[in-house]
Amino acid sequence: MKTVRFVDLGRQYLRLRTEILEKFDEISRSGDYILSREGAAFEQEFADYCGVPHAIGVGNGSDALLLSLLALGVGPGDEVVTVPNSFVASAWVIARTGARIVFCDTGEDMNMDPARLREAVTPKTKAVLPVHLTGRVADMDAILKVAREFNLRVVEDAAQAVGARRNGRRAGAFGDCAGFSLHPLKNLHVHGDGGVITTPDPDICAFLKKSRNHGLRNRDECEFWGMNSRLDEVQAAIARIKLPRLDEWNERFRTLAGRYRLGLEGVAGIPGEESGEEPVYHRFMIRHEQRDALQAHLAARGVETKVNYPIPLHLQPAAAGLGYREGDFPVAERLARTILSLPLYPELEEDDVDYVIETIKDFTRR
Ligand SMILES: *Cc1c(COP(=O)(O)O)cnc(C)c1O
Repeated sequence: MKTVRFVDLGRQYLRLRTEILEKFDEISRSGDYILSREGAAFEQEFADYCGVPHAIGVGNGSDALLLSLLALGVGPGDEVVTVPNSFVASAWVIARTGARIVFCDTGEDMNMDPARLREAVTPKTKAVLPVHLTGRVADMDAILKVAREFNLRVVEDAAQAVGARRNGRRAGAFGDCAGFSLHPLKNLHVHGDGGVITTPDPDICAFLKKSRNHGLRNRDECEFWGMNSRLDEVQAAIARIKLPRLDEWNERFRTLAGRYRLGLEGVAGIPGEESGEEPVYHRFMIRHEQRDALQAHLAARGVETKVNYPIPLHLQPAAAGLGYREGDFPVAERLARTILSLPLYPELEEDDVDYVIETIKDFTRR
């Protein structure tokens, strides 16, 4: 029996091993481990890649979102709207600022529904945090229209969408700020935790560079109480080695996703791609009414799959105080019951994808 693993990070490392080890050695000898050449160079290269004037390296993707909200002045008494079908960090970063989490339902594209966003806005709404789930950019034109109408700040959760485009613009190039994750499970990843913020605003950039570094203006003067959340030199150097290869890897994600789409058409619910969209398939998520049985069938035949994510955020124990109930967000709740993420990474072979397709077809024939 064949086995198809859900992720296989070691394979990417082996291709880049010499380059990474040489860099590690160089940095280790230099003694400059934090906030030095590699970090600054990566910030410039990442900003250029996204087509945004500024990028700021931080400790992880969650901090990227939290620091962005804080930089935009979100705090106690404010409300921030996000979606219920995301990783928990999309929600807790809002709570951490002291603001209230407000959810709005998603559309069939699994991303924020701009019409539902409009309904969720109140006089207290300060910001909106759309998520580009699975590497597919949300309908930002419509979301930005609502944001302009109600004077809301926009923070893109681009953790899953590095390199994705919509109407020619990259994820991270739409909002007042965008937070990216360099976590090992993301398309561009480092060997530990890492994150990046992009912003078009030089003042926000200057604020973020201080707030990630304790609020220090210089070595001795603390302008405001900040945080310690920096992208260290070794991680930045690894990100720099990988960034020039990202488009090629994302193309591979898209090629393999295309193979899945073709093979599974009419067999399971497959993600759509509208004109102007260029998703990067951080996840390839299918939908099936007998999801749990399908997952067990695949597992028994060596195919590892995951559910991202089985419990909607408004039904998490942590959300108990927010007053939401089952049935509040029917689209997101239905997604949580039917979605299944299939193995997908650049090192996966066509054979592997075909085996997964055949195994799913075999399930539906039963
Ligand atoms: C991964 C992820 C985050 C958090 O990123 P970390 O680097 O793990 O802190 C936030 N939002 C979404 C949608 C994510 O997938």
